[in-house]
Amino acid sequence: MSRIRLLPDIVASQVAAGEVVERPASVVKELIENSIDAGARKIEILIRRGGISLVRVVDDGCGMDRDDALLSLERHATSKIRSAADLAAIATLGFRGEALPSIASVSRFRLTTREPNAVAGTELIVNGGKIDIVRDGGEAPGTQVEARSLFYNLPARRKFLRSENTESRNIEHQLQLQAIGHPQIAFAFVRDARLVFQLPPAANLHDRIRDLYGNELLERLLPVNGAGLDKIEISGLIGRAGLSRQTRAQQLVFVNGRAVESPVLTAALREGYHTALMKGQFPVTFLFLNLDPASVDVNVHPAKREVRFRDPTAVREAVVNSIRRTLEGGRSDWQEKFRAPASRPPQPIETTPKIPEPRHGELPQLAAALGEGGYNVVAGVADPGRAVVKPDEFASETPIKRDRNRQFQIIGILNKLYVLMENADGLVLVDQHAAHERILFEELRRRMEEQGVPSQKLLIPQTFDLPPRDAEWVGRNLSILQKMGIGIEGFGPNTFKIDSLPAFLQASDPISFMQRVLDDLKSASNSSSALRLGEEMIAMTVCRHAVKANDPLRYLEVEKLIQDLLECDLPYCCPHGRPTMIQISLSELEKKFGRKA
Ligand code: ADP
Ligand code: MG
Repeated sequence: MSRIRLLPDIVASQVAAGEVVERPASVVKELIENSIDAGARKIEILIRRGGISLVRVVDDGCGMDRDDALLSLERHATSKIRSAADLAAIATLGFRGEALPSIASVSRFRLTTREPNAVAGTELIVNGGKIDIVRDGGEAPGTQVEARSLFYNLPARRKFLRSENTESRNIEHQLQLQAIGHPQIAFAFVRDARLVFQLPPAANLHDRIRDLYGNELLERLLPVNGAGLDKIEISGLIGRAGLSRQTRAQQLVFVNGRAVESPVLTAALREGYHTALMKGQFPVTFLFLNLDPASVDVNVHPAKREVRFRDPTAVREAVVNSIRRTLEGGRSDWQEKFRAPASRPPQPIETTPKIPEPRHGELPQLAAALGEGGYNVVAGVADPGRAVVKPDEFASETPIKRDRNRQFQIIGILNKLYVLMENADGLVLVDQHAAHERILFEELRRRMEEQGVPSQKLLIPQTFDLPPRDAEWVGRNLSILQKMGIGIEGFGPNTFKIDSLPAFLQASDPISFMQRVLDDLKSASNSSSALRLGEEMIAMTVCRHAVKANDPLRYLEVEKLIQDLLECDLPYCCPHGRPTMIQISLSELEKKFGRKA
């Protein structure tokens, strides 16, 4: 007796629905995509109880005649592709012809639709995949789809739904994706009878982001520099270095207008941001890639979230490079920001050395605010515990020339570590240690790219042995080490000789230095690609050997440090992504002091 049976259509639809319709947010996604494909200018979304009780999407798109409306509920019925060849170059969001029948098979479903010039529209009512009613409908031109009681006929599925709040948040995320991806379309979102947002049609992405997230975020974004690419167009807005999130929720990437999740792109973003991003944080991106539809396969997943690129390497490189260039281009605004306030000439630097008179009145107040152990006015000596050192005082050794191009004004140094500066926005704190790390890092990288890092000969070359595994590793990476200014070569099976070190490192014990570098290298090579190893390694090495947090710097050195920092490609974070400077704006201070609400 034969045991194989064809599944009834309704059951087949429910099986397929399992993949397309995971949760209310997937219903919202599919319906909005249909509206966009139908050329809608305005889409309204209404949900109740996290979309479990009701999802309704209303559009003013092209609508359908009755035959099409009935056909749209059949599985694999679509107006968007006609042949297998069309699959190779998909220009619409939908194409699988699965969404409507899937949603209809797992909900109480109602569709009303009307073409713009038709006298009457059509209303269809479907329950659990079975068409119950077909009749004339009198709605406005466009299409309205309602899915109620999602998974009412699949209790097992319903159990997997999360709380109403979580489902609502998923829906809202989905809506934001669509709204960002299609700024020219107006969106309105109503949740449980409350209007969550109403977005007018926007001229561009810029305006849409402002309408959705406000000016504050917008000011922290940079327009993507996608110049010089052929075959792939990259545009959008991305967060400046220093702007990051704990989750991926605002890391949005669109490929040919479709929001996608792609490991290739995620990795490319991370690599593009590289040291501009703290470990474990995610960038804020609204990135748009446009490429020949034939070079992307969107038919990977029933929910069409994933894409495959024909040439992933080219895509990766294009993204990495445009992110880098964008972040580095953002530097000039920062330098602008760190200009000294126009209203006050840069006083401390202009004072003649050895006459520490003019500004004495000011710092002691600051010191007093810090309590005992602050700046000692009489002696002019900083208490080692918690000190605010005055510029004049540590400037007293060397004469300083007046510098007209000064971009910042140094107020003093806190706790031998933080440089306090004033700029037009208020107070800036710079972490000397992180700043120094950043400067050395970029210097080293530049030299490596150019001709090599200057090294300093050791008085006596030293040899050392390594366990075989480490020795093998060092042997493989000799050239990188040499390029870094480390004079190292093989000297027997597991023995190496070292005769010089990078000039700036000031390491006293080359062997223990090498040991630490090796440890860094080994851990770095486990966690990142071979390509990035060199850079990562430099960053870590430099970090370990950068100026010690509590080395007192003289004023001139501090000034130079700040100037060098502002010259860096990415001045605002250290190679590991920790910030080098923190701005406390005047308005923040006013708030803290209760001058302003
Ligand atoms: P797909 O979008 O993959 O084609 P769907 O099941 O989502 O499959 O939709 C089936 C068909 O129904 C679409 O191809 C389209 O012709 C039509 N359709 C669906 N939604 C709308 C809408 N909002 N406006 C106009 N036509 C629609
Ligand atoms: Mg569709």
